[in-house]
Amino acid sequence: MNYHQYFPIDVVNGPGTRATLFVSGCEHQCRGCYNQSTWNPDSGHLFDEAMLEQVIKDLNDTRIVRRGLSLSGGDPLHPGNLDVILTLVKRVRQECRGKDIWLWTGYRLDELSPAQQAVIAHVDVLVDGKFEQSLADPSLVFRGSSNQVIHYLTDKR
Ligand code: SF4
Repeated sequence: MNYHQYFPIDVVNGPGTRATLFVSGCEHQCRGCYNQSTWNPDSGHLFDEAMLEQVIKDLNDTRIVRRGLSLSGGDPLHPGNLDVILTLVKRVRQECRGKDIWLWTGYRLDELSPAQQAVIAHVDVLVDGKFEQSLADPSLVFRGSSNQVIHYLTDKR
């Protein structure tokens, strides 16, 4: 898996202070997408073992407490990203006690494949659906268009 940007400290993408990873790879081609440079799965930089360790380390940093991890893109549930994202969310669950995981995807919750559902099993909040330009609303929080839904999958909110 490749990624475009990693913000070890972020207060925009999700609630509270977080670490945020924007991955490469998206097949949805939403009209009006402001992240088209992420569509190519081979763009950006390799998310290697050192990067994974860095994310875990940042989430466990007691000097700057992060509430959790945000995964966006691109699409973290792009088929080519699933193996690495599954490893990442499992590691966060096992090694970063109390941290929440938010994930943004262009797929809808009700159309996820078994492999995508396996990832979601370790996610607290899923923001789903393509960006629909005709339904775009800048007043929405944590989503770009009103068709997208914030699903709270656990009691963390
Ligand atoms: S899902 Fe997101 S990154 Fe992918 S095309 Fe749509 S708006 Fe762009």
